[in-house]
Amino acid sequence: MMQIPELLLHKNIAIVGGGPGGLTLARLLQLKGAWVKVYERDHSQAARVQGAIVDLHFDSGLKAMEATGLMEAFKANYMTGADKYRLLDPKGNILLDEGNQAGEPQFGNPQFRPEIDRGALRDLLINGLLPGTVIWDSQFVSMKEVDYKWELQFKNGTTATADIVIGSDGYRSLIRPYLTDVKALYSGAMIIQGEIDHPKTACPEFYQLVNQANLMAMGNGATIAAQPRGDGGLTFYAASMYPENWVKVSGIDFNNTEQVQTYLIDHYEDWNPVFFSLFKACQHFLPRPLNYFPLENRWETKDNVTLIGDAAHLMPPNGEGINLAMLDALDLSECLTGTATFTDLHNAIASYEKTMFDRAAPLCKETIEGISDFAAPTEESVQDLIKMLS
Ligand SMILES: Cc1cc2nc3c(=O)[nH]c(=O)nc-3n(C[C@H](O)[C@H](O)[C@H](O)COP(=O)(O)OP(=O)(O)OC[C@H]3O[C@@H](n4cnc5c(N)ncnc54)[C@H](O)[C@@H]3O)c2cc1C
Repeated sequence: MMQIPELLLHKNIAIVGGGPGGLTLARLLQLKGAWVKVYERDHSQAARVQGAIVDLHFDSGLKAMEATGLMEAFKANYMTGADKYRLLDPKGNILLDEGNQAGEPQFGNPQFRPEIDRGALRDLLINGLLPGTVIWDSQFVSMKEVDYKWELQFKNGTTATADIVIGSDGYRSLIRPYLTDVKALYSGAMIIQGEIDHPKTACPEFYQLVNQANLMAMGNGATIAAQPRGDGGLTFYAASMYPENWVKVSGIDFNNTEQVQTYLIDHYEDWNPVFFSLFKACQHFLPRPLNYFPLENRWETKDNVTLIGDAAHLMPPNGEGINLAMLDALDLSECLTGTATFTDLHNAIASYEKTMFDRAAPLCKETIEGISDFAAPTEESVQDLIKMLS
């Protein structure tokens, strides 16, 4: 029988949110014998995970994956070649095509950033947990502290009790208010996300252009990014800078496909018509203002609740979000169960939070400062990106 680490002896841990951060943490804690449950809002494992592929990085996501002992499952599921970037200008000219570059970085090479479908990543992490660890259809609503324990309340009327609560419930975290009242701020940029289930037939020319890789088209103050999904579909993001309340004042009904298509074709009017075929093929649009948590003011550490991932440090997409969430999970699990000997939970959690904040704060600042290079690129910023990718 595995020896439960001293700090977690007789402690029930509730992880709220079964995204990449929460599931990685659950696996890492279970490997050390800790008593863990994950409370997830989705009704079942079959619920489709939103978003396209994500790449794991050598010193963060892959490092955490290695620690979970699930690397073989990851290697069986990653999407070969999907890590290649193809960069276009608005006219559709190819500015950079990593698919044509010689030399293939592989596992073990710090430059290698293998891509995986979000659903496949979730499935392999869930399969690594003890049966019954994830309690589905458990949308957290509130909790109260009674006799040094948390009593959690879920939307479906069920309750649970835990000694330690870890919020991994993403950017709209409901655990976060138990630590801080710092709210998200708007970055100035917004994306309109589109999903196409059958791009091969719905927009064949564009589908060929993506070529199962990461396509970015940038210029004229806007960006279009497109990525394959693991199920043969395609996700795209059309990004620009917008005033904060633009979704409300634009007059566009985002449930009305035709209205959004007309807006996008007009917004990208001087672009190559191949991009219009992408908009026309899309039947489902979602406006996403890109927000972030200002990280200058840190919360006061508590000894029985903390946050990981977006719940702690939401920032606009910069390719690091899932990687940071998984690295937070690794760091927190090591503080709670690792070789470093903390005298109490307060010190263990404080040590994790310091590492997490020190890492996330400069990255968030850099992302916000460079947000217009992503959402409203100039010729100069595109050239800088090409240099960086080359
Ligand atoms: C458009 C876009 C593109 C992105 N691209 C990338 C990328 O390429 N690479 C990358 O690394 N990152 C990317 N990110 C960022 C990345 O998606 C997040 O940083 C990452 O998913 C955070 O992981 P998490 O586990 O903290 O939270 P999440 O992935 O948000 O998971 C939170 C989980 O909690 C559950 N939940 C929420 N509320 C409750 C509740 N009240 N009760 C119970 N469960 C709840 C949710 O259902 C979900 O399963 C992108 C983000 C966006 C918006």
